[in-house]
Amino acid sequence: MLAQALQHVMQRLTAAASDAGRPEPRLLAVSKTQPATAIAELAAVWRAHEGRVRRQPNVVVAFGENYVQEALAKQAQLAALTLEWHMIGHLQSNKAREAAAAFDWVQTVDRAKLVTALGRHRPPELEALNVLIQVNIDDERSKHGCDPEQVDALARAILAEPRLRLRGLMAIPAPHPEQALRCAAFARMRGLFDPLREAHPQVDTLSMGMSDDIELAVAEGATMVRVGTALFGARG
Ligand SMILES: *Cc1c(COP(=O)(O)O)cnc(C)c1O
Repeated sequence: MLAQALQHVMQRLTAAASDAGRPEPRLLAVSKTQPATAIAELAAVWRAHEGRVRRQPNVVVAFGENYVQEALAKQAQLAALTLEWHMIGHLQSNKAREAAAAFDWVQTVDRAKLVTALGRHRPPELEALNVLIQVNIDDERSKHGCDPEQVDALARAILAEPRLRLRGLMAIPAPHPEQALRCAAFARMRGLFDPLREAHPQVDTLSMGMSDDIELAVAEGATMVRVGTALFGARG
């Protein structure tokens, strides 16, 4: 099951990249609500796939979680495996210390206070924490993420923190029924990302696109897609 789902998602990534004339994006497997056993199984079939198709059996496999406590519990069960962990849910400031120690990436940095807290609490024995600035690209009042005009100031704050490494931008556009509106949101993200990447050589990641809109996001320049349902099936 998981092997077939992974193969299908990988085929979608390859086709989307080739149609768009762009490099293939990185896959982040979104494992919220999934048990540790499912993560271990997907990690195994993913490594086998990379070994067979790309001859890279030691590829880094990456999982995204939305809640710090849920991630910590699974990490404890999966401590024997080498996995890359991404925080993709809203991060409360009082969870910043735990998150700074538990994750390799935090994709949901959207305010200066969080930048300071993550920078202060990243443990010295670990590499700098990779961070993405989450942008509220559809200006939805209820959603998290910074306003597009705040990206430059947040980027400067991150660059001033030696324990953080700015890697790029992340967005969760509104699920507009009209495809054109979703494409427009992805395109606006690219408009923010391109100058940031030009200004800062370590910026390489534009995280956007989920199970339903991988192709649209890649067409607009996503370098990382976050996929849950298309890998693990519908969440209960
Ligand atoms: C749940 C989630 C995803 C994955 O969504 P699917 O539609 O299941 O692929 C991606 N990004 C974020 C931030 C999520 O919370």
